[in-house]
Amino acid sequence: MNKTTRTIRWLLFLFVTSITTAGGIYADAITLQSYNSINNATLQDEGKTTNRQYAPDRKVDILHIIIDVTPDFKLRTVAGTTTIKFVPIANPLTELRLDAINLRVSSITSSATIADYNVTDKAITITFDEPVSPEEEITVTVIHESEPRQGLYFRTPEMGYNEEDTHLYTKNFAHDGPHWYPNYDYPNERSSSEVICRVPPNMTVLSNGRLVSEEIDSDSGLKVAHWLQEKPHANYLIALAAGKFKKIESRYKDIPLAFYTPASQIDQAENSFKDTADMMAFYEEEIGIPYPWDKYYQVVIEGGGGGMENTTLTILGDGTLFTTATENIRSSQGLVSHELVHQWFGDYVTCKDWSHTWLNEGFATYYEKLYDGYKNGLDSMLYELYRSSRNVLSDRPTHKPIVYKSYSYAREQFDYRTYPKGAWVLHMLRNELGKELFHKCVILYLERHALSSVVTEDFRSVIEEMTGRSFDRFFDQWLYHARHPDLTVSYSWSPKEKLAKVSVKQTHEVNNNVMLFHFRRKVRFVIDKEPVDHEIVIDSKEHDFYFPLTKEPEIVRFDPEYSLLADIKFQKPTAMLYAQLDNKTDMIGRILAIDSLSEKKDKTTVTKLKDILNNDPFYGVRIKASSVLRKIQTNEAFNALAESINQPDARVRRRVVGDVGGFYRPESFKLMKRVLKSEKNPAILSIAIRNLGRYHDVDNRKQLLNYLKSKSYRNILADAAVEAIRMLDEPFFISPLQNNLSKYEKQFTFWGFTQALDTLAYISRNEDDKTQVRSFLSGYVNHQNELIQAYAIMALGTLGDPKAIPIVETFSTDNPDDFIGNYAKDALKKLRERKELVSTEIVHLREIVDDLKQETEKLKNDFEDIKKQLGANEQNKEKSDDH
Ligand SMILES: [Zn+2]
Repeated sequence: MNKTTRTIRWLLFLFVTSITTAGGIYADAITLQSYNSINNATLQDEGKTTNRQYAPDRKVDILHIIIDVTPDFKLRTVAGTTTIKFVPIANPLTELRLDAINLRVSSITSSATIADYNVTDKAITITFDEPVSPEEEITVTVIHESEPRQGLYFRTPEMGYNEEDTHLYTKNFAHDGPHWYPNYDYPNERSSSEVICRVPPNMTVLSNGRLVSEEIDSDSGLKVAHWLQEKPHANYLIALAAGKFKKIESRYKDIPLAFYTPASQIDQAENSFKDTADMMAFYEEEIGIPYPWDKYYQVVIEGGGGGMENTTLTILGDGTLFTTATENIRSSQGLVSHELVHQWFGDYVTCKDWSHTWLNEGFATYYEKLYDGYKNGLDSMLYELYRSSRNVLSDRPTHKPIVYKSYSYAREQFDYRTYPKGAWVLHMLRNELGKELFHKCVILYLERHALSSVVTEDFRSVIEEMTGRSFDRFFDQWLYHARHPDLTVSYSWSPKEKLAKVSVKQTHEVNNNVMLFHFRRKVRFVIDKEPVDHEIVIDSKEHDFYFPLTKEPEIVRFDPEYSLLADIKFQKPTAMLYAQLDNKTDMIGRILAIDSLSEKKDKTTVTKLKDILNNDPFYGVRIKASSVLRKIQTNEAFNALAESINQPDARVRRRVVGDVGGFYRPESFKLMKRVLKSEKNPAILSIAIRNLGRYHDVDNRKQLLNYLKSKSYRNILADAAVEAIRMLDEPFFISPLQNNLSKYEKQFTFWGFTQALDTLAYISRNEDDKTQVRSFLSGYVNHQNELIQAYAIMALGTLGDPKAIPIVETFSTDNPDDFIGNYAKDALKKLRERKELVSTEIVHLREIVDDLKQETEKLKNDFEDIKKQLGANEQNKEKSDDH
């Protein structure tokens, strides 16, 4: 598997996770991957280099850009005229270079005289007759046409989409804008912009800023929509969406709010849109700067999850839509709030280069959690921080800090460091400064750098200015150096001296990339249910702290306010863990106690966990108890879960159903069947269906086949049946699965259908005769939808029938930009290996036959010998009998 393919797989993985988890972790550009944009993974023109990355020189200041485009939905091409107004910076300008990827340019004109221009696959270079002097305003106008494979994406009936939902959308992030119009494309530059788009009259056009006009052009009969973004913004935030959208609207103060979806999906819009105005009010207050733009629209496009925070127009993948049938399991809150926060952090101030990405993503992720705290309570916010910390604290490479210049391409910077770790850095900082002071720092930071680009030092200097304190060390250890502290904490009690001893060790490897951490935190002793706090400073590898106390504490907690990002191992006596479980004022303490109890298998622990699972006031703690009971895997643990399956909170119920299914036993199977009869929530049903995949039971077969043709929103029940069938891996399913796929294709999402194709191939891989399945899959290799095409080709590789080689060969290519070609190359490799294996097997069989032949020959000879000997013996016997 080559690197490109791996990256593609990874992007697809994100695509799937983001639609299956509520709110997604990296709710952002990074997950807004659509099928057509999969080949973005080739990261064209993102300055791949082994060296460190810096923002490029700005030779001109772009003042304004007008992009006037006419898309052709049938041909999937875009004709455009782009006008750019600029002034040279500091020096006379002889050449203007614009990023332009695979644009066909028919004309370039300018207010200055042009001597010549040159167009390559990546750029347009315009040479002026005379050097243009600094401060002189110049315009250039480029007439261009393109058939964009990235940056601008069509969703048309010719591609397999519903006619009534026809649309297009753009995603300029990180450097894909130049696929549909030329511009200087780097976030260290910003300009005002206009987008004019000409479409059939029954379509809606959406873009940045405010709508200047919308009218029918009498010559062409097309609707001409004209949008203007007056405040300057970075090129990657320019956006266009056009098509047969429907909308719901609202207003916050005088700011128009709207939520658009493809026509057929409008019924789900309200579920995702409903909190937007409330969020807006919260952020104006929490951030302290009024919403800085003209409007806030969100538009849902088909394909993918995640979102892209273009100024005033966030584009969301339709994976965020959900029905109320899923109760509180699905929500758009995380994604919608995250993208809205970007209107301040990312759009109003923008990271100057991608090494400072955390200034966009860390803030958006943290403020997303602050809204959650406001809406659902502090425990909910801390729980979200706890969950995101799991993502940071797992085994991570030690060489990459948050502010990192040695990345190979922009997207590399959009990972656990800039999202959850960036959010945690802000959480630590806010705890360090206190809410008030932090709030003041943020206001000054935004005011000072409004509508311009920022680097990490801009934020640090504001904090230092406002606090008078030095934050060099804080930024150095958390942002400029990698990783987090690994801590071992231990506690002991001396009854005679009434002394509590707490030892703290930093156990992580300290090297050039990872520092020994320096921080101040609390240790809390709970004595007679009253907290007694002591502050400790950790500044070296090992510390022993002694605290005189009135009596032995019931509970000892390190960092009780949950404000330190660290992997902490704290061994405590079981009685203390039980006391911690009972402490209803300390949600994180209860979660951590449950974690520590996962090693225990005794009945008392199971009883306690069962009690928590049914009675804890916070749903996250109940979920944790369920997952630890599953881990314990004893009969008692199973019974505790089985008896707790009727949870009123759907989130907990889903977890318990999943965890009961995590036990392999007849009772679990029975329970799953009961859930399938009684449960109404499709998100829980799909878990129960998947769990059937562990049981080779004849009854199962019929039920799974019924789910395969069942109708559900986004077909999640059929998808779950496909997963169960894959787990069962029984040849019985080959023919019914194939029949169902051809009959119910339209019910599946494109993604769901690709998984089903691959499952069919997978369960057929050991069949002697693969002809039927091969010819079925081959019927999809030219499918109108590229994702299905790619996966049908991949499935032929999974099937492993060497007879598919000639088919797959026709698609295979070495061009890293051709993602179908890459899938084919991968499949071809598998098929050839399989062929080799088969021929090796044949050679091996031949050898066995030869051996057998020789052996038979030998046996025959031996037998002849024996016969002769016997004959001789008989003769001798006869002879002797003759005596
Ligand atoms: Zn984001």
